[in-house]
Amino acid sequence: MPTILDGNLVREEIKAECRPRVEKIIARAGRPPGLAVVLVGNNPASQVYVSSKTKTAADLGMLSETITPPASISTEELLGIIETLNARPEIDGILVQLPLPPQIDSQRILLAVAPEKDVDGFHPYNVGLLATGRPGPRPCTPAGVIELLKRHKLPIAGQNAVVVGRSDIVGKPAAFLLLQENATVTICHSKTRDLPGVCRTADILVAAIGRPAMVTADYIKPGAVVIDVGINKIESRAEGERIFDPKRLADFDRRGSLLVGDVHPGDMARLASAYTPVPGGVGPLTIAMLMRNTIESAERRTARAAAA
Ligand code: NAP
Repeated sequence: MPTILDGNLVREEIKAECRPRVEKIIARAGRPPGLAVVLVGNNPASQVYVSSKTKTAADLGMLSETITPPASISTEELLGIIETLNARPEIDGILVQLPLPPQIDSQRILLAVAPEKDVDGFHPYNVGLLATGRPGPRPCTPAGVIELLKRHKLPIAGQNAVVVGRSDIVGKPAAFLLLQENATVTICHSKTRDLPGVCRTADILVAAIGRPAMVTADYIKPGAVVIDVGINKIESRAEGERIFDPKRLADFDRRGSLLVGDVHPGDMARLASAYTPVPGGVGPLTIAMLMRNTIESAERRTARAAAA
């Protein structure tokens, strides 16, 4: 039987470790770690993500503030909001929820976040820290992947790791983090030749593609550890029939849609020695890692303030 890498369990472990760190910061600095989330406009999916983030922060005793400018805001006005947050001492982390409306220059906004408050780890300064193996905030979803592997005591050093996807948010940072853990890393993308063949060399296969159940049996070496980062909503029954077993198909029929990752769930369960389910695998860790990044920023900043 394969090991199911339970993200909900690991999330609770990480949250439990966060609580005493929050208390220590309050005792030292007289204030909790502070997270500011900038949510532009009314994108319903973004509203759900942001509300989970602020709820988790509140649950951990952290300060969380959501700034909600209208969708019509200009780049200059949004830069003004970021600058104000950069200057506020009680804010340790700033998160700009993506995507931003089309009139906004997203690159300028992300560059404007002070690197020491960039708890998403997306600022080029922090990307440089990651690439050179120096301490700093790591992008939350890939950091969660490493936590899942380590806390299940799955070996990384010396393993062949194949990451499918090279986005700045998931694929590239996942590859850097695996390299830092001494895996031998291959990064694949849409121009990779013989993708199934390359994936079959993987002891650890990470799929971060955004294509429902694209990774099928011919991509998976028997016994591999498979990490499925993808989150895709299936709404077509024909697609559901290709992907789901009869029990899940019955769920699909009841609800009219279901989530699936980038890996075919049945093939993954049959071939992998350990794998992340979707939902309930990598997903739950992203917010937990955001909290940890914010707490680490608060630890650095309050220690510096205390020493000054
Ligand atoms: P993205 O920016 O769209 O990047 C997708 C990557 O997959 C690209 O590098 C692309 O290659 C590659 N790709 C696309 N089609 C391919 C194909 N047919 N063969 C090989 N490679 C292919 O997506 P992302 O932001 O990294 O997200 C990936 C998935 O993770 C999505 O399902 C997303 O919803 C999910 N996600 C989950 C979490 C979480 O909390 N669990 C967080 C973030 C994202 P090119 O570069 O060549 O175009």
